[in-house]
Amino acid sequence: MHEWSIAYSVVKTLTDNFDKKVLKVTLVLPQFSFLDLEILKEAFDELKKENKVTQDAELKIKIAEPIFKCRNCGKEFKLSDVEKQLNEVRSQYGEEYPLHLMPELFPAFLKCPYCGSHDIEAKGQEIYIESVEVEESGAVTRTS
Ligand SMILES: [Zn+2]
Repeated sequence: MHEWSIAYSVVKTLTDNFDKKVLKVTLVLPQFSFLDLEILKEAFDELKKENKVTQDAELKIKIAEPIFKCRNCGKEFKLSDVEKQLNEVRSQYGEEYPLHLMPELFPAFLKCPYCGSHDIEAKGQEIYIESVEVEESGAVTRTS
């Protein structure tokens, strides 16, 4: 499952880069990742037990709205800027409209709200760790 491989790479990134205990990690997911966040959290909670660095880490998830950039006029715009166009695509294809499955297809269906070009690239589709909070030596003590 995709969720498990993402949880695994988060845990691995943390253990590769930190030797202090990680208390919190914030993961950014694109809005159209269609991951099951519950499964992702479960997977993380399971995998984090395997080592000292991550065993107490809390996983925070942020959802990033995609940003589009027009290669023709250079302007950037958000999904909300092309809401009307999206609704048209939806009414054409019904609930099975292909953007659900393939965010990469956005440029094929959408045009730049400024110049009308279809030469659009989608940004903000990547999954990344935004921030990590680690335990400072002596700042957190555990008695149990
Ligand atoms: Zn444009």
